[in-house]
Amino acid sequence: MGPRAAGFVIYRIFCRRIEYLLLQTSYGIHHWTPPKGHVDPGESDLETAFRETEEESGLKKCDLKVLEGFQEILKYEVKGAPKTVTYWLAEISHEGVEVKLSNEHQDFKWVPLDEACKLSGYKDMVDLLNKCENFILAEKKF
Ligand code: AMP
Repeated sequence: MGPRAAGFVIYRIFCRRIEYLLLQTSYGIHHWTPPKGHVDPGESDLETAFRETEEESGLKKCDLKVLEGFQEILKYEVKGAPKTVTYWLAEISHEGVEVKLSNEHQDFKWVPLDEACKLSGYKDMVDLLNKCENFILAEKKF
């Protein structure tokens, strides 16, 4: 099995719109991704998702409301090896939270679904973001 990673698709409701947080990597092709990272030995995937989210975006557990019943796994190849990323979905829990990037990322954006899909460009991420949007709407979290 290849490397395992975990993270959060994070959204906020801003001016009655759902906006997703994407980070632009400072490495590689500078692609846009939700916060996520590699699972350390002895760590659960959910613990990784919280740790990596805090490291990469400055958003802590208390800044997030995790939506129950949503969990999706993306699988893609990195340099010929399969990578698995488990994502949960979380809403920003209060106003005024500030994103603080690490040196792994060079920019961030809060964007609605269509723009998030365009920024990502990866089909599996586009599908995931659409599932998130439908889940949020169905849960009447909006
Ligand atoms: P990452 O997993 O985001 O650290 O990216 C590692 C490599 O995988 C980079 O070359 C990305 O361009 C590529 N990548 C990132 N996300 C995806 C995805 N959802 N589907 C396919 N390839 C991806």
